[in-house]
Amino acid sequence: MNVTFRCPACDQPAIAQFGPESAEIACCRCGVRFPVPQGCVTQKQVTQCLICPSTELFIRKDFPQVLGVAIVVLAAVISSVFWYLHMPWWTYGTLFAAAFIDLVLYILVGNQLQCYRCQAQYRGVPGLDNHEPFDLETHEKYRQQAARLASASKEIK
Ligand SMILES: [Zn+2]
Ligand SMILES: [Zn+2]
Repeated sequence: MNVTFRCPACDQPAIAQFGPESAEIACCRCGVRFPVPQGCVTQKQVTQCLICPSTELFIRKDFPQVLGVAIVVLAAVISSVFWYLHMPWWTYGTLFAAAFIDLVLYILVGNQLQCYRCQAQYRGVPGLDNHEPFDLETHEKYRQQAARLASASKEIK
């Protein structure tokens, strides 16, 4: 299992390996160690975020958004060239092919677990089926909380 997160100490993106026996995880950038709360990683699933105290995690497709966008942009460029050359079937064919590739990739890629609060991403963890998919209301709750914290810390300064 591994977790990708923004280190609270050095504010850099970091990745760390962990298992059910891990008592702590370390930032690969600055070396700061975080204790892993007891019982939040079991053989069956991750029940609590290791980076922040949040217990609200959701499953999402481990699909690089950049790749999805790149396929769409590429298809748009190629199909407009065909359109310009008066080859309408190739135009539609390209768009269909792009949509198909996106769909196949979406089916092929696995799931990952993500924390609503700190956006840490967990890969290779068991029991993903026990988690809920993304919920906009929960996301909004954490987003507003983060916005309040940000404005509060600004007032202090
Ligand atoms: Zn760090
Ligand atoms: Zn978290």
